[in-house]
Amino acid sequence: MRSFSRRQVLRTSAVGAAGAAAGGAAGVVGGRVLAQRRSPTDRVAPRPVAPGYLGARTVFQASPGSGAVALTFDDGPGEFTPLVLDLLGEAGIPATFFLLGTSASAHPDLVAREAGAGHEVAVHGWDHQDVYSKEYDQLGDEIDRTMSAITSAGAPAPRLWRPPYGRVDAPALMVAASRGLDVVLWGHHTPDVATAQGLVGSVGAGGIILSHDARSQPTEALVRAVVAAAAAVKDQGLALATVSELLRLDAAASS
Ligand SMILES: [Zn+2]
Repeated sequence: MRSFSRRQVLRTSAVGAAGAAAGGAAGVVGGRVLAQRRSPTDRVAPRPVAPGYLGARTVFQASPGSGAVALTFDDGPGEFTPLVLDLLGEAGIPATFFLLGTSASAHPDLVAREAGAGHEVAVHGWDHQDVYSKEYDQLGDEIDRTMSAITSAGAPAPRLWRPPYGRVDAPALMVAASRGLDVVLWGHHTPDVATAQGLVGSVGAGGIILSHDARSQPTEALVRAVVAAAAAVKDQGLALATVSELLRLDAAASS
């Protein structure tokens, strides 16, 4: 991680909106800096500019009637993406990948491979800072840049956004709404092999499973356990679907 001198930290955290991104990075340096940042409750969405811009659909699970489960991977594309794609291909499982724009720009070949294999490619963020560290215009610009990185690699235009850490607020929901993105959280998490193995028997129809294929969390053992558990869930009779397909199945079941 880039380091900041104390003088740099104090300067960047004092310039408010323009320094929000730098302040976010500097926030990990010490409590002194955190105390100087604006409270998250200061943040409000810009005035609505058109009907329908009042919120965005936000989901963490679908109904049992959907009959399906969605497996998702965040933070890529990166180190474990090729292995995850191989394992998903062997198991015949579609997944949804929530990408970082910086990584999508660096690995367009992996983005194209994800889309080409029938997986859904969606937005995580330009980098991995939470939405609270970015002003509305900056956040929107970064989401646009991430979507461009994804489509430039040959994937369809994303329809879903999972903000880093699952954190959202009014400005973030307006960014999502104004771009037609649904916000997707999760109901199951797989931080370690034992938890991943526990998906068998704990995840039911409508479940959305969070996994990672890059950054700090994944290991080869973990991604193998995650995909093996998803395959076992599939063997028990639940369909595995992309998130958009899960939401379509949910809508069809409730209509
Ligand atoms: Zn993440």
